[in-house]
Amino acid sequence: MFANIPAPASDEIIDLMARSSNDERAFKVDLTVGVYKDSNDNTLLMKAVKEADQLLAKAGRNKSYVGSKGDLEYVQLLQELVLANQSVNGYISGVQTAGGSGGLRAILDVIKLANPDAKIWVSDPTYANHIPTIIAAGLAYEEYPFIDHKTMMLDEQGMFNRLEKLGKNDVVLLHGSCHNPSGLRLTSQHWQQIAQLSNSTHFLPLIDTAYQGFADGLTEDAAGLLTVANTVERLALCVSCSKNFGVYSDRVGAAYILSPTEEEANTVQAQLAIMSKTTYWVPPSNGAEIVKTILKTPALKKMWSDELSQINVKIKGIRAKLCAAFRQHSGDNYFDYILSQEGMFAMLPASEEQMELLRVDYGVYGLNNGRINLASIPEQDIDYLVTSVLAVTRA
Ligand code: PLP
Repeated sequence: MFANIPAPASDEIIDLMARSSNDERAFKVDLTVGVYKDSNDNTLLMKAVKEADQLLAKAGRNKSYVGSKGDLEYVQLLQELVLANQSVNGYISGVQTAGGSGGLRAILDVIKLANPDAKIWVSDPTYANHIPTIIAAGLAYEEYPFIDHKTMMLDEQGMFNRLEKLGKNDVVLLHGSCHNPSGLRLTSQHWQQIAQLSNSTHFLPLIDTAYQGFADGLTEDAAGLLTVANTVERLALCVSCSKNFGVYSDRVGAAYILSPTEEEANTVQAQLAIMSKTTYWVPPSNGAEIVKTILKTPALKKMWSDELSQINVKIKGIRAKLCAAFRQHSGDNYFDYILSQEGMFAMLPASEEQMELLRVDYGVYGLNNGRINLASIPEQDIDYLVTSVLAVTRA
C-alpha cells in the first residue's frame, strides 16, 4: 500500500530549529520560529493564561465533547474581540477550530464546496503554511505582488494592479495585521481600497488574523478587518489565539463567515463544522476554555491586554534599536524599513545563499526567505546580528 508513496518536502522551520539546536558553537542566534520568547529565551506563558488555567482547575470542569461547532460562547466572545466590539451589517457564522490553521482549512473546505473553481490569491510572500493548506484543500492558488525586494517596502502598485483584475471566482487571502513574513503594514487607505475593489470586482476577501494586538493595540489592529467587514457583502475570517494568548500547543482558533442572510449563515456554519467533524470530530477545548475565561472575566482580560501591550512595546523597542544599529554600522538609512513595519517579523534583504552564509559563518538562523523573528533577538546581540547581516549582504 505505502511502498511507492512520495516523501513530502521537509518542513523548513522544523529543520532549521533542529540545525540550530545541534549547532554546538557557544554563540548563536536562533530567529527562526514564530513564537514570542521572554528574555530568558523561553516561550512566554502569560500570567492571565496561568491564572485562568488555575481557576478552571479549581472549578473541576469535566472533559465532555463540545460538539463539532465547538463552544459557541467562546466563538461569540472571540468574534467580539476580533471585531473590537463593533457590529457589522449581515450575519456572522462561526465555529471553534484547532488553531487558526484549522480555521483556514474549514473555510477553504467550504469555499471548495461552494465553488470548486475558486482560486485563492496569496501575497508574495506569505505564511509558509498557507499554500500547502490550499493545495491540501484541493483548490488552485496564485500569488499577488506584495513586497518590493529592492526597497523591502510594499509593492502597492503591483498589488492593486493585480487585485483589480480579479473576479467572482477569486478569493484574496490577506493578513489582518502584522504580515507574516514581511511585517509590512497596510494603511487604512489600503484597506478601504481593498474593500472597494472587493465590492466592484466581487472577489471574496479571506482575512487571516493571527497577531491581533501585536501592531498598535487590540482595537487598532482590528481596523482593517472592520473596514472590509463594513463594506462587503461576504467575508471569510480565520482567527488564531496562538500568538496573542501564547497558547500555541493548545490549538485555539476559529473560523467565521459573514453572509447577507441568516439562512445562508446557518448553512455556512453547519458546513464549517464539517471540517472538524470529519477530521477530529470535535475541536480541542482546553485552550478555548482558557481564552473564554480570560475574555469573560474583566480582571483577567485587563491583565492579559496589559501583558500584550508590554509585548508590543518590547517589539517596537527592538525595531528601534535594530534600525539604530543598522544606521550606525552601515552609515545609511536603508534598514529604516524595519521601523515602519509591525509585528514580530521582518525580512532581511538577503538571498537564500546569503541566509545560509549567515548560519554557517555567523551562527545566525533565519528562514530562507530572509524572515527573522525580532522578538527572539537578545538585546545584547543586536550589534552582532547587524554586523553579521551587513558582512553577508554587502560583501
Ligand atoms: N496564520 C498566520 C499568518 C500565521 O503566521 C500563523 C502562525 O505562524 C498561523 C496562521 C497559524 O496559527 P495557529 O498556530 O493558530 O494554527
